[in-house]
Amino acid sequence: MLQVGFDIGGTSIKAGVVRDSRDKVDIAASRRIPFPTGDPYGAVVDLMAKLVAEMAEELKIPVSDFQSIGVAVPGTIDATGEVVINAHNLYFHDVPLKRAVEEKFPGIPVLMANDANAAALAEYYAGAFRGYGTAILITLGTGVGGGMVLNGKMWNGARNNGFELGHIIVKHGGQLCTCGNRGCLESYGTATWLKQQGRKAVVEYPLSLIYKKARGDIGNVSAKTVIDAAKENDPFAVDIFNRYVDYLSSGIASLAVLFDPEIIALGGGVSLAGEFLYEPLRKLIVRKSFYHVPVPVVPARLGNEAGVIGAAMLAKGQVS
Ligand SMILES: [Zn+2]
Repeated sequence: MLQVGFDIGGTSIKAGVVRDSRDKVDIAASRRIPFPTGDPYGAVVDLMAKLVAEMAEELKIPVSDFQSIGVAVPGTIDATGEVVINAHNLYFHDVPLKRAVEEKFPGIPVLMANDANAAALAEYYAGAFRGYGTAILITLGTGVGGGMVLNGKMWNGARNNGFELGHIIVKHGGQLCTCGNRGCLESYGTATWLKQQGRKAVVEYPLSLIYKKARGDIGNVSAKTVIDAAKENDPFAVDIFNRYVDYLSSGIASLAVLFDPEIIALGGGVSLAGEFLYEPLRKLIVRKSFYHVPVPVVPARLGNEAGVIGAAMLAKGQVS
């Protein structure tokens, strides 16, 4: 089976033809072009049609051989799965994207999903979740996002508003979140939080190794500087990192209690901290979970390809 997947982001449009055989999922052709910021959505759809035609030509098959077209977008999709209500990075507001793509490809089913949810589906078919039925993907970058596969299907909730795990509240009355609420996981579980705490620490404690690692320039303090200093046992960095893991584990333990996943995978920049992060995180999740049963927490496998593969698999893993 050959299925087309699009991962539309604020900087680029990624497209791929995903070949789905019984025991393997791989990318047969792919394209990546800059996102045409400022152009109307019709221009985006024209580019998508061009990419599909190019990939068909590369594979020497007619476009009609593609069995489905899936589109992953970084935003909110309406309950029918047809309209992008808001995708701020794309400047898409109330865009009937599904219909516009369908008009370009008569007879080929078109499906649309949130990119984080699609990434979880990709891990299910081609990555860390292969062989599992219920699994949660958590991405730790400038925001906290993710998706869930529940009993082998992507979980989008009743109105396509699930699985906004970055906005579960881990601290009552806590720090203001970008969403307007206080104490969301996204206010604490990000690379941004680590960076901010690192900058605060070097102002208060100039002797911190964080400052040395930033070569004496507060502007160089990043999440990585803090993590690297914590790995070398700098007490200020260790304190920040421990608080980070504490917040993150509270959020993940809440998810584990609710959904009892077989496996959890982490992606995004902070997840590159490796076992230094995973080991204390696993322990705290067990401690904070109701049944105290260990859940495997592993790295996500697909990285940049997750959106394209997940979008291509939408026709298979029909929206719940
Ligand atoms: Zn929030």
